[in-house]
This record gives sequence, structure tokens and C-alpha cells, in this order.
Amino acid sequence: MTEQRVQQRNWAGNFGYRAERIAHPRTVAELQELVAGARTIRALGSRHSFNDIADTSGTRAALNLLDPAITVDAENLNVTVSGGTRYGTLAAELQRQGFALHNLASLPHISVAGAVATATHGSGDGNGNLATAVAGLELVTADGGILTARRGETTDFDGMVVGLGALGIVSSVTLDIEPAFHVAQHVFEDLDWERVLENFDDVTSSAYSVSLFTDWSGSTVGQAWLKGRVSDPGVVAGRRDFFGGTPALSARHPLPGVSGSNCTEQLGVPGPWSDRLAHFRMEFTPSKGDELQSEYLVPREHAVDAIRTLRKLSGVLTPLLLVSEIRTIAADRLWLSPNYGRDGIGLHFTWRQDQPAVEAVLPLLEAELAPFAARPHWGKLFDGGTAAVGPLYPRFDDFRALAGRLDPAGKFRNRFLDYAVFGS
Ligand SMILES: Cc1cc2nc3c(=O)[nH]c(=O)nc-3n(C[C@H](O)[C@H](O)[C@H](O)COP(=O)(O)OP(=O)(O)OC[C@H]3O[C@@H](n4cnc5c(N)ncnc54)[C@H](O)[C@@H]3O)c2cc1C
Repeated sequence: MTEQRVQQRNWAGNFGYRAERIAHPRTVAELQELVAGARTIRALGSRHSFNDIADTSGTRAALNLLDPAITVDAENLNVTVSGGTRYGTLAAELQRQGFALHNLASLPHISVAGAVATATHGSGDGNGNLATAVAGLELVTADGGILTARRGETTDFDGMVVGLGALGIVSSVTLDIEPAFHVAQHVFEDLDWERVLENFDDVTSSAYSVSLFTDWSGSTVGQAWLKGRVSDPGVVAGRRDFFGGTPALSARHPLPGVSGSNCTEQLGVPGPWSDRLAHFRMEFTPSKGDELQSEYLVPREHAVDAIRTLRKLSGVLTPLLLVSEIRTIAADRLWLSPNYGRDGIGLHFTWRQDQPAVEAVLPLLEAELAPFAARPHWGKLFDGGTAAVGPLYPRFDDFRALAGRLDPAGKFRNRFLDYAVFGS
């Protein structure tokens, strides 16, 4: 095991971890020993969260030196990977073996365990977030023991998956897989906002995964990214008009002025799911880098009203924004998933890196979205604490009780959890 005392920042650089030290266990046994001997400890994924969710006052356990240990069970259609494995590594290996995950986030750089812990999602009316693919977990618990849980075998499983790092350190995770499939990606530009809102269900169901990019100003939606499974009936290929939008003639990046070559292949060229479902390529910096992010998950029935509300706030939002993205996510049963019990949309904000200005606007944004029962993304910037967040989750108290049972001394607690989950 290697240990360092360096101060480290998150990927966006807006947060400096306060942890005393960082340890890199090379085996699960080393991880168990580390956890057992720690006063306070947190798992660190690939550092792509924008808040202090991954921080601790004690030891950060980085799992990037664990063997990825990608084991495919072709008969039962699942794959098991170690806690530090990144989606990009996993996706390439699954594709090589002829298998696929149901979806990916916008970037493949993130760790599976870290993404699952915060209910990270991609898009698609029928696609649950990435945590919904979890069929099993192996967790190093506060006493250094190993707890294994499989979907359907324990009543607490649905509470353990989106665990916010509060229940233990995931040493391995088993995910559902399916036969590999091909995807073609089309980008349309300048869709008519009113037509999009009047036909919202038709827009979001027009491909396996649909993303809309906007800065909320003006009368058009900047871009629509449509990722269609090649085997599905093609509803967009060859279309010259998509709700008033026209096909992009070269590769696009969601951010104005950034090269489309950083992005997964577009222009309808079919290719493996592993090279199309994310927006950004593994070998490039995803998004911009110099940015902040927030996101709110809103039930499907409020989608159009919530979008209309944000359009009216353009005067406040647009000057602070690089871009916003609207995606759809299917309902699930994971207790702390922002998609718990409801199909919904994600209203995402990629902000300019001006933290005081962003923090000043978040209370207003949350007040405007409150009538729509908007749940904040756990890994991005938000304002409301436990009193605001808790009532949005029917199983919130069950999660707190589960955390209390698995971690009675609060070894995995941190400032983030105290503020957003365990506050009064
Ligand atoms: C450019 C960019 C694009 C993004 N795009 C999307 C997107 O498309 N969709 C979306 O939903 N989100 C998106 N995000 C947010 C991101 O997916 C989440 O913040 C995610 O949690 C990051 O994973 P990570 O591995 O970096 O986790 P970290 O930020 O390192 O940690 C997040 C949490 O996971 C816990 N954790 C990590 N590993 C383990 C483990 N082994 N066991 C237990 N707990 C663990 C940590 O303790 C912490 O609580 C994006 C972020 C960036 C920077």
C-alpha cells in the first residue's frame, strides 16, 4: 500500500480535499486493514464530483491501484469489476468480449463505484441511471469486514446501491450486461423551443438516448444529440428537419467554440455502444474542465413546466452558463436515487467557474424548481441541506437507519453527509 500526504483537488479544481492523507491499497485485504484501522475514512473515486461528497477529515482511500479484475459471466449476463475501475476501461473490455452496458454518462472517465454511489445517469426514456445496472455489491464495512449483497436477496439492497460512500467502501460491483449493440449518433441544431415543448414526448422518444443542449436564451434549442440503436427502427436517420432543427454538417461539441473532435463520433456513422453512448472520448478532457456543474431531477409530468420556468430565468442563468443539458431517465427503486419512484428529466447546468456567483444563484434556482419536487444530483453543486432534501425521498429515514447500523461510529461520515443527509 502506498500513502501520500499531498493535498489534492477534485477534477474541476474548485474543491481542495481536507483529508489528512491518501492511501492506495493494492488488494482488498489491504483495503480491509486500512478501513479497520482508520478513525475516519472515505473512498475516493476519480474525483469528478463538484462538491465535498468524497472528502473526509481522515484518510481518503483511492482504489485506482486495485486490479480492475473485469470478470464477465456470459451465462448470467453480468460483469464484476473492482471498486476503482473506470467506465472507459470496462466499456472497452466488454465491447471486446461482445457485451454492453445499457447506458453511459456523458464521460467514460469516471469510476463505476463513484458514479453508482451518486446515481450518475445518461439519457433515454427507457434507461434507468447507471446504478440501476447494479446486480451485486461487495462492501468493506466499518470494522474491516466484507459484506456482500445481491439484488433481490436482501431487503436493504435497494438502499445500499446509491450509498453516497456512507455505508462502506465498495471493493467490487457486479453490473447487468447485454449483447453488444451498435449506435448511430445524429446532432441537430437550432430546434424550435415551442415545437419541442409542444411535442416533448415525441422529441425524447425519438432515439434510444436524447440530449438537448441550451443556454435558455432565445427561441431555439442549440443542439439535440440523438443516439439511436442501429437495430431499432430509424426515426431520425435521413431527417432534414427535427422539430425545426437542421442536421449538423460536421462533428459538434456541446460547448460553443470547442472542437467536436473531443466528442464521440457523430454524423450518423454507426459504431459500438462503447464509442457512442458517452458524449466525450476517453482520450480527451471531457466537457471544458474549467467549469462547475449542478443538476436537478424533476418528475416527467412537470418536465415542460419546469423547462418553461427556467426559460423565464434566462436573464439570471445565461450569463453564468457554459451550457445546460436536458436528459430523460427512467424510474427506479433505489432509495437515494433522484429517480426513485418516478420517470423524470435531468436539468443540468455546466456553469462558468465562478463559485461565488454560482452559489448565489442556486437558492433562487432551487426555490423556482421546488414546486416540481426537484431532487439535486448528489455529485454536483446544490444549496439545500437535509431539511430541503430529506422530504423529497420516501426512503430517506430508512437510509439513515441503514447507515447507522452499518457505520455506528460514523467512520464514513463527512461534512457533506452531515449537511445534506444527517442534519436535522
Ligand atoms: C465533466 C463531467 C461530466 C459529468 N457528466 C455526468 C453525467 O453525464 N451524468 C451524471 O449523472 N453525472 C455526471 N457527472 C458527475 C459525476 O458522474 C459524479 O460526480 C460521479 O460521482 C463521479 O464519479 P467519481 O468516480 O469521480 O466519484 P468521486 O467524485 O471521486 O466520489 C463520489 C462519491 O462516490 C463515493 N465513492 C467513490 N468510490 C467509492 C467506492 N469504491 N465505494 C464507496 N463509495 C465510493 C465517494 O466517497 C463519494 O461519496 C459529470 C462530472 C464531470 C466532471
